Amino acid sequence: MRFCSLGSGSSGNATVVEARDGPRAHRVLIDCGFSMRDFETRLARAGLLPEQLDAIFVTHEHGDHVGCAPVLSRRYGIPLWTSRGTWRASGESEAADVRFARDGEPIDIGSLRLIPYTVPHDAAEPLQLRCTDGARSLGVLTDAGSITPHLLEHLHGCEALLIECNHDAGMLARSRYPASVRARIGGPHGHLCNETAAQILRASAHAGLRHVVAAHLSEQNNTPALAREAMAGAWGATPDDIVVASPARGFDWLTLG
Ligand SMILES: [Zn+2]
Ligand SMILES: [Zn+2]
Repeated sequence: MRFCSLGSGSSGNATVVEARDGPRAHRVLIDCGFSMRDFETRLARAGLLPEQLDAIFVTHEHGDHVGCAPVLSRRYGIPLWTSRGTWRASGESEAADVRFARDGEPIDIGSLRLIPYTVPHDAAEPLQLRCTDGARSLGVLTDAGSITPHLLEHLHGCEALLIECNHDAGMLARSRYPASVRARIGGPHGHLCNETAAQILRASAHAGLRHVVAAHLSEQNNTPALAREAMAGAWGATPDDIVVASPARGFDWLTLG
């Protein structure tokens, strides 16, 4: 199993997860918050064509996650999985093949199993994902405002974790954002700060954890160095051991087992 990001941040998010079963690979695209042209360029950089995607999963209706996902689904006939609430809130009614996902109900894409789970975020019905090939698991968590026992349960035992490190609490407090925006971002249904992301990592770290990715960083209210430092401290690793997903490039393929 391996995974990469095509870009991550408030201007757009897309993650590809791939599992191999002999010669056949199955791939899911998690979110697609870019224009079609931008997305195809980014996908090509990862060495893939849209035809090689077996499913799209949209976590919630915010523009940095939906982007061209419905167009991509229609144009290439790729099933689009999302919650009923997300689909309704995104205002899209004519995708070729929409399938509804629910908290805790596994979705099998060949050898890849996706397990959606509910998170606290200011969207209609947001779902994040645990992905597994049966042997190893990747826990994906972006766009969540606070820690719940439910999300910790789904990240438990994963060999790779991709966790939102949206902002540094101090930088957000000192930012020029209006008070209402600061309150939303830092609130329980907003975005994870470095410290809360580090708490999640501390609770989820185990001897088999191989990759930790800091994702969805704010370009205004965070720096890669601050996110790395917080996550490295929680993992008992060095800052260089933490992968940071960038808005322009995401990160290159990381392999699990
Ligand atoms: Zn987002
Ligand atoms: Zn969001």
